[in-house]
Amino acid sequence: TVTVERGESSPEKLLAPVLSSFWDQPKSWTLDTYLRHEGYEGMRKALAMPPDDVIALVKDAGLRGRGGAGFPTGMKWQFIPQGDGKPHYLVVNADESEPGTCKDIPLLFANPHALIEGMIIACHAIRSEHAFIYLRGEVVPVLRRLHEAVREAYEAGYLGTGDARRRKLGLDGLPDLDITVHAGAGAYICGEETALLDSLEGRRGQPRLRPPFPAVAGLYACPTVVNNVESIASVPAILHKGKEWFRSMGSEKSPGFTLYSLSGHVANPGQYEGPLGITLRQLLDMSGGIRPGHRLKFWTPGGSSTPLLTEEHLDVPLDYEGVGAAGSMLGTKALQCFDETTCVVRAVTRWTEFYAHESCGKCTPCREGTYWLVQLLRDIEAGKGRMEDLEKLADIADNINGKSFCALGDGAASPIFSSLKYFKEEYQQHITGGGCPFDPAKSTVWA
Ligand code: NAD
Ligand code: SF4
Repeated sequence: TVTVERGESSPEKLLAPVLSSFWDQPKSWTLDTYLRHEGYEGMRKALAMPPDDVIALVKDAGLRGRGGAGFPTGMKWQFIPQGDGKPHYLVVNADESEPGTCKDIPLLFANPHALIEGMIIACHAIRSEHAFIYLRGEVVPVLRRLHEAVREAYEAGYLGTGDARRRKLGLDGLPDLDITVHAGAGAYICGEETALLDSLEGRRGQPRLRPPFPAVAGLYACPTVVNNVESIASVPAILHKGKEWFRSMGSEKSPGFTLYSLSGHVANPGQYEGPLGITLRQLLDMSGGIRPGHRLKFWTPGGSSTPLLTEEHLDVPLDYEGVGAAGSMLGTKALQCFDETTCVVRAVTRWTEFYAHESCGKCTPCREGTYWLVQLLRDIEAGKGRMEDLEKLADIADNINGKSFCALGDGAASPIFSSLKYFKEEYQQHITGGGCPFDPAKSTVWA
């Protein structure tokens, strides 16, 4: 793990990592280890504060949602109505599935108590007595570790009902709190917050119409905060160390530290923690760069749903504003890097196959459009395409983008637009040359 100070590119200027600071320690996931690293200190501070002050602190710190959209976390908590007489729920979205995104699952595996502590703080802030973790079902080892961490938290009195919790924490009048861990069944669409809520309620996971947003009518039609794992796990450190400390990293509008997933044709793939606003060039410099003997061709800032960028964007600040100004989105900070051996048409075909497979089928533009895109892309990749297919690709993507029911449709359109913008010639080469000019055996990613 590497971290750098704001505006500094030198590896000597490393800061101590936060979420990943003790991932390399033996049994990092246990309560004992967590307590040895100032665990549950943020919770103690938060529980002694009025709930609205906790919300104000998180809001002032400027924490933005780490699930992809970057919505201000404190503001989301503030939307929960008070005195409405309804139960309030916190639901943690741990259904991490965006291609290339691999930060919530490692975080849960190595340090599940950061999430549990953050959930206790968030529940206090929004006055919730029951919280849920919706975990991607395939990651059974993480599920086991989460169950164990929740059990430890109950045993320590951080969770639970009745006087035992109040006595153990030494806080009179503290409400009850239960956490339920739920494993999903492996559908990408269940990471969309309203589909996730439907799935949690026992129905087929398909997006709901928004508004109303979950803050108004979420789980069981009650006010619900849905937050990403990393967002909630970042909260304890903010409570413990303060908003100024958090704001000392990152940029004015995108403050704080974050986890980046670096993958693809890089020398050392993995999770890297640093402030928002560092650049891919800095991350590559510190992590060993692109695999030896090769150069970067294209990359995604936040998984395949965010428009591709190229070598010319290596110095774009990895924050919401910087990546936005470059014509893409920060998304989940999944930096997938592809070198010159990669066929962009092949990469886009693979991603589009993924979206077609994961489309929930609720709306026509996405259900039919992604299927159609796959047919065209496969033909082009196989050398059976025609020049007019390129216009058709753009036209279909245009009819999906912004016209679909949820963000999956926009995500599917995004690699089509950006690959045509930067690599149209490569598509044309496939058509005029009667097939793919690349040797897939030379690419470690797509072979
Ligand atoms: P969004 O911008 O519509 O909403 C973001 C959050 O803010 C939601 O929780 C929403 O309820 C809340 N919100 C927005 N406006 C609100 C309002 N007026 N009142 C109350 N709450 C409001 O984004 P989205 O469609 O929820 O998510 C799209 C993002 O998901 C993309 O940016 C993508 O990067 C990301 N994504 C992540 C993964 C992953 O594996 N982590 C997978 C796919 C997509
Ligand atoms: Fe379902 Fe796709 Fe429509 Fe979203 S955009 S509702 S995933 S069909």
